[in-house]
Amino acid sequence: MEPRVFNFSAGPAVLPLPALERAQQDLLSLPGVGSSILEISHRSKTFMEIIEQTEANYRSLLGVPDGYRVLFLQGGAQMQFAMIPMNLLRDSGKSADYIVTGTWGKKAMKEAKTQGPVRVAWDGEPTKFRQTPAADQLDLDPDAAYAYFTSNETIQGVQFQAEPAVGDVPLVCDASSDILCRPLPMEKYGILYACAQKNAGPAGVTVVIIRDDLLERIGDGLPSMLDYRTFAKANSLFNTPPVFSIYVAWLVTEWLVNDIGGLDKMQAINRGKSQLLYDTIDNSSGFYRGHADGACRSTMNVTFTLADDSLEGAFVEQAAQRGLASLKGHRSVGGFRASIYNAMPVAGVEALRDFMTEFAEKNI
Ligand SMILES: *Cc1c(COP(=O)(O)O)cnc(C)c1O
Repeated sequence: MEPRVFNFSAGPAVLPLPALERAQQDLLSLPGVGSSILEISHRSKTFMEIIEQTEANYRSLLGVPDGYRVLFLQGGAQMQFAMIPMNLLRDSGKSADYIVTGTWGKKAMKEAKTQGPVRVAWDGEPTKFRQTPAADQLDLDPDAAYAYFTSNETIQGVQFQAEPAVGDVPLVCDASSDILCRPLPMEKYGILYACAQKNAGPAGVTVVIIRDDLLERIGDGLPSMLDYRTFAKANSLFNTPPVFSIYVAWLVTEWLVNDIGGLDKMQAINRGKSQLLYDTIDNSSGFYRGHADGACRSTMNVTFTLADDSLEGAFVEQAAQRGLASLKGHRSVGGFRASIYNAMPVAGVEALRDFMTEFAEKNI
């Protein structure tokens, strides 16, 4: 087998090795079944157990209280950009508040405008998306249909350290690039959703955790496939779900429960890993420059540039020679982005830190 590199891709991204190994080992024939997961009915007992176990693991890992549904949908995070306002804004007679801290929040707001009136509760673009807002900077409508934020802006590397306080307005969160990275106070959320392909599994499945009372606010007339109630009623099995993606997402939650030991432990590991890189940036005498402001730095996507950007090509090339892959930043920010999701081993982050230190010493 070609040796595995340390893959810093922003998404689809690195998966836990034990999950991949188990999928490989059981690919031709699931234990007790005699067929591949790729070949069985989504209504078989085996798959029903897998999807129920996945939900149970999400509930226990995130402490999802009674009164919430955990749904497995398709269409990626960007389908949710539209589905949320279709279900909760369109016929509400209200407007929706958007807290925009990066590229994904901005795109979500644009989609919402196709469904109803939208207010900007805070916009980080004038300051280049380096921050999350302080509580007193938010311009919130106490009667909004919902208030929307992106817990971790994947492109800018800006992460909320705590939920924005929005009073009684339902809080809606795109957690696509940091779900399962830390424990959350789920009772603060109306909707928490994430596409799987950053921190939770392969592309193809999107987890939507939604509070029951929001289902009751949905207006009639939506196509079935775009109405949350369809999937709530059918336990995510209205039509054929992405069976294999859900299976691997289940293996990822099994790894979090059994190998890592829960989200408190995962958070401690993530803090340690990101600190290694932020310390390297901060101790480089300005050779490396972090994009996000100190208090808003992401534990998932570490974004930085070089004081001398003519060295960018050499950095990426020499990193790749050492098996450190996909470090190039998004074109809108430039520089580099090290995505160090849950599944990135500490050894991968240490290897990147050592490379960054040596590269700075050679080129300073
Ligand atoms: C990747 C990403 C998206 C887009 O996900 P798709 O599944 O490709 O639509 C949206 N929001 C965030 C925060 C992301 O990281």
